[in-house]
Amino acid sequence: MTFEQLGLSAELLRAVHEQGYTEPTPIQAQAIPVILEGKDVMGGAQTGTGKTASFVLPMLKRLEVHANNSMSPAKHPIRAVILTPTRELAMQVHDSVKTYGKYLVLRSALVYGGVSIDTQIAAVRAGVEILVATPGRLLDHIQQKTVMLSKVEILILDEADRMLDMGFLPDLKQIIQLLPMQRQNLMFSATFSDEIKKLANKILKDPVLIEVARRNSISELITHVVYPVEVPQKQSALMHLIKKQNLQQVLVFTRTKIGADRLAHFLSRQNISCAAIHGDRNQLQRTQALEDFKQNAIRVLVATDVAARGLDIEELTHVINFELPNNPEDYVHRIGRTGRAGAKGYAISFVDKDEDSLLASIEKLLGIKVKVDQLDESELRKQQNEFVKKTGPAKEDKEKTRFSQERKRFEPRFGKYNETNYGATARKTAAGKANKIEDPLFTQPYISKYPDIASLATAGELNKKTINKRFANRALPALFTAINKQK
Ligand code: AMP
Repeated sequence: MTFEQLGLSAELLRAVHEQGYTEPTPIQAQAIPVILEGKDVMGGAQTGTGKTASFVLPMLKRLEVHANNSMSPAKHPIRAVILTPTRELAMQVHDSVKTYGKYLVLRSALVYGGVSIDTQIAAVRAGVEILVATPGRLLDHIQQKTVMLSKVEILILDEADRMLDMGFLPDLKQIIQLLPMQRQNLMFSATFSDEIKKLANKILKDPVLIEVARRNSISELITHVVYPVEVPQKQSALMHLIKKQNLQQVLVFTRTKIGADRLAHFLSRQNISCAAIHGDRNQLQRTQALEDFKQNAIRVLVATDVAARGLDIEELTHVINFELPNNPEDYVHRIGRTGRAGAKGYAISFVDKDEDSLLASIEKLLGIKVKVDQLDESELRKQQNEFVKKTGPAKEDKEKTRFSQERKRFEPRFGKYNETNYGATARKTAAGKANKIEDPLFTQPYISKYPDIASLATAGELNKKTINKRFANRALPALFTAINKQK
């Protein structure tokens, strides 16, 4: 099968070939013709399968008829909305829209929360055919009347399961109510829970079901290795691996934000260029860290699970689980960052005795027994001695003291201390009673600002009232503001 056989236009084929793609991936081969026919699709595919191109390419082809060079924003109404759960994924999808659409005159914009809305307003006001958005921020724009959805022909939900996990359902319902009834709907999800099926039933009309990878299946190109390492030795073990294998680009996962910061700090002190990416970092820091990592400006990116989904780093060969995740499905998402698009990958895990049960549930989920290897003890000792020489014995002792102090505080309240159950308790506390899955991106579970359509309208009214109040008895400022708005 070739891309030429899929019914794409010359402009799209040119962009695809420039990317060096020689043939469509299975999801692309199956989804592109169906989407081009205008049918709704329920796609079961994880990142790494080429799923972004499988919806972006046919979407662009279907929107080609609207391509025009007019300067008037009115000639560029929003025709397609792509919703993603995270900012990182939104950025990546938007990059794909730009890459594959570079020979078309269709316009696109990206809107996501956590940054100022003003520049986004300017971008959408100019008129765009394609809008890539996270749900909450899209509602902010709707509420501010900077976005109109009445001309939308295609709705795409990417990583729908993740959106539900993160509590975006009320926002999705709001957005869907504002779309024209007549439209094409595409929904992609890595997993098919009952909730996803319910959402699919609500949104999709006679969808074609396309599933390329079995749920939780993992790439056969990935080699899994477990090294038994006690918690206090994990840092030296990581240094040992990086040095011995001369690893130049490694994604390392920790379970907690504080753990990520601590590890990044340690690596920096060992002169290993690195950055941490997690929910307490602002958007700019996260984007910068990711960009530096992609450009090989830093060797190690330390991440919490927020980075596990959607991140696309070309030819990433090594993912290291500094700690195993509490949820075995997160292991699949973490290691899915490597072994992508036909490349080989290594998933290495440092497992302390207390994490054995986590390893067992991962093996059960994957249906494989992970190979256990031993790190060279003498090398490890040498490595540790080097640290001691560099940082003085006090630092080693400090780490031990910290561990025992944390244990003393922890055990009377929660039972036996280890990093594993400490992490689990912390997650539960953060998730609170909301009964939502905590996402490490946010310190609290996501709560919609607009739980129903009425609140959205009220928010609009409130906005008007505030504006009126601002200009009460101030005729001139009001006039100038109005003139400026007209410009
Ligand atoms: P995705 O699953 O959309 O996150 O894509 C994973 C990676 O596969 C991205 O780096 C794409 O650039 C790459 N990719 C997508 N389609 C193809 C293709 N047909 N051949 C080779 N690589 C591809």
